[in-house]
Amino acid sequence: MTDDPAPPRCRFCGAPLTTTFIDLGETPLANSFVTEADVAAGRDRRYPLHARVCGECFLVQVDEPVRAEAIFSDYAYFSSFAASWVEHARRYAEAMIARFRLGPRSLVVEIASNDGYLLQHFIAAGIPTLGVEPAANVAAAAIAKGVPTEVAFFGRAAAERLAQRGVKADLVAANNVLAHVPDIRDFVAGFALILAPDGVATFEFPHLLNLIRQTQFDTIYHEHFSYLSLMTVETIFAATGLRAFDVEELPTHGGSLRLFACRTRAAHREAPRLAALRAKEREAGLDSLDAYRGFAPRVEAVKRPFLAFLAQARAEGKSVAAYGAAAKGNTFLNVCGVTSADIACVFDRSTAKQGKLLPGSHIPILAPERIGEIKPDYLVVLPWNLIDEIKTNMKVIAEWGGRFVVAVPQTRVLAP
Ligand SMILES: [Zn+2]
Repeated sequence: MTDDPAPPRCRFCGAPLTTTFIDLGETPLANSFVTEADVAAGRDRRYPLHARVCGECFLVQVDEPVRAEAIFSDYAYFSSFAASWVEHARRYAEAMIARFRLGPRSLVVEIASNDGYLLQHFIAAGIPTLGVEPAANVAAAAIAKGVPTEVAFFGRAAAERLAQRGVKADLVAANNVLAHVPDIRDFVAGFALILAPDGVATFEFPHLLNLIRQTQFDTIYHEHFSYLSLMTVETIFAATGLRAFDVEELPTHGGSLRLFACRTRAAHREAPRLAALRAKEREAGLDSLDAYRGFAPRVEAVKRPFLAFLAQARAEGKSVAAYGAAAKGNTFLNVCGVTSADIACVFDRSTAKQGKLLPGSHIPILAPERIGEIKPDYLVVLPWNLIDEIKTNMKVIAEWGGRFVVAVPQTRVLAP
């Protein structure tokens, strides 16, 4: 007799989740870098990383192995450390100020405002702002920089408190947070409560259609709870008093959407490109489970050539290092079963990560300046979405005939 536990339930609509999108086995939390002492003491736990798709609302989602508060309350990631991300934020602020004519009488709120990397651009333009950030240490850094910040997990309750204090936002930015909230319905329900009648909320998130088409399985990790299509987000909006009125496709994170939303009865007219994107998702079959069931075999087809590349490099006596100790690299390496026997070290600019080991694979993290001592024959660029930037920054490998390698959506060796 098998002991079949009840399937988990959809984090949006509550339907039982009976269809697997991809089961990636047991992996460590992708952002929990470890020390030699942690490894010796067995403090490098693995948790099931199993993405399922809901047959009712088509939300692709992973289980929550540890409470979100434990992951995010003292979050080590400070947005200002990523140069390209700060530039993305600056362009966003410029575009929103112009399009929605924001000025000194407007209010811009950002959810998960981090260290104020985005709101600082609105403040510089003389526009009042308010950040909402769950990690107290990160919020303190924002306040020290002059960015008013409320320490809170955003959701219906936090939004009610803000609304009672008279918060009515002309713009609410939620960039790269929607995919990371455990209770997505409660989170989205907060927006209508703090928006002015014609206020605008923007949501940026990696587009599930790109994840599927380009086999970006390495963007799946425990802290990334939801994998979103326009279709599913519009279903969530409809249940929470919002509607989308425009969408932009962005190159960030391997292909993201920036969705513009307003309260259901607001005056914003719907842009034609919204209907075009809905049609594109329907043509790709995102409203049928078959589109999701075909993903797992394609992941195998990405892993095999990369493992063959490593085997060949070893056979030829070539050294392999990696670049970028980011979450997606950790999923990729752990799912492929790669260790420090295959990849000697990984270079990363974050001083907080240097000297530590990648979770699971235990590959040591070194400062990029040390690449001249190591002189790897191959440099595997784990954040493939930043390949152009990294090729420029690490072109020194040409001096000893080194080559770049990316593994997603397929293994390619690139000349510097
Ligand atoms: Zn559902």
